[in-house]
Amino acid sequence: MITVFKQQSISPHRFILSSLSLCVLSLCFLLSAHVEAANRKVNITIGTGGTAGVYYPAGMSLCKFINKNEGRHGIHCTAQTTAGSVENAQKVRTGAFDFAIVQSDVQYYALKGYGPFKKKGPDTKLRSVLSLYPEPFTIIARTDSGIRVLDDLMGKRVNIGNPGSGQRTSMELVMHAKGWKKEAFASAMELTSDEQSAALCTNEIDAMVMTVGHPNPDIKKTLTTCNAILINVDGPVVEHLVKTYPYYSAMSIPGRAYPGSSLSTRTFGVTATLVASAKTPDRVVKELLQALFNNFTDFKFSHPAFFSLVPTEMNEKGLTAPMHTAAKDYFQRAADLTKLLNVKPPPGR
Ligand code: GLU
Repeated sequence: MITVFKQQSISPHRFILSSLSLCVLSLCFLLSAHVEAANRKVNITIGTGGTAGVYYPAGMSLCKFINKNEGRHGIHCTAQTTAGSVENAQKVRTGAFDFAIVQSDVQYYALKGYGPFKKKGPDTKLRSVLSLYPEPFTIIARTDSGIRVLDDLMGKRVNIGNPGSGQRTSMELVMHAKGWKKEAFASAMELTSDEQSAALCTNEIDAMVMTVGHPNPDIKKTLTTCNAILINVDGPVVEHLVKTYPYYSAMSIPGRAYPGSSLSTRTFGVTATLVASAKTPDRVVKELLQALFNNFTDFKFSHPAFFSLVPTEMNEKGLTAPMHTAAKDYFQRAADLTKLLNVKPPPGR
């Protein structure tokens, strides 16, 4: 009652004045938020891969979600095409990239200073942010090449992957395990993931390799238009690889992933992961994770390789580098992530 009486006693003049001050206050607040965002304006880059792969669309989606709120946080994100995982890890180290998507084995090599990272030594500043989807090592051969099993690659024209890519690392691992040098092939090409499908279709090569998420539109196009097949990567040598190195696991590409075959393809693989540097600011890492999980349904349905993503598993698989402090904080609020478990497809998908 008293409240009602008090409200009724406000003169129209005072009412207009207080409403005006409220408006001015909110305007000031909005303005200061924008000025603050402008003052804190940063451009960030995510290193991805070739446009034929899945890293690029993943990076593009992440940037799209971040840029939606650029007015609030002042962060502008760009997804950069690259040679792949190895170049990405190198550029996170130099500071050229704030984030990058890398294979889990490459993450481990960069952290320890192994293989392609031997010269520079261990990257003690490398940090894990997120685990994404499985990437089976994939071999595709022309049907008329006669390649049906892994050993048939010997004496054939094979694209072993471009330097700087993750598939090159995987292929070198297989070659090493098999005791093959480049001379084992009639020719060992180094085409990028964007070039190799066309080369396979025009019969410049007999087989190509890619460590990549499935299903994948580029591989679907290659399989359906170039008379090509997926080859099993199995046998004792591969079993040994999986047993010896914790960052490789047995994987299969389900038959239903592509039209034309109901049989699944046996192989081994890694996990696609998002990394950053310890120098990548906490607030940038936090905004990236928030942008992803606030738009998780859209992300999940933006590419068929993301369909099986489960938020509660995305802070673990394949992450050997220490977690970035902001990512650790974010994932500790795991309750928020479980809410996203039963995401429904957006209308029309
Ligand atoms: N796994 C590949 C690499 O590390 C890239 C795959 C992709 O672009 O999706 O180079």
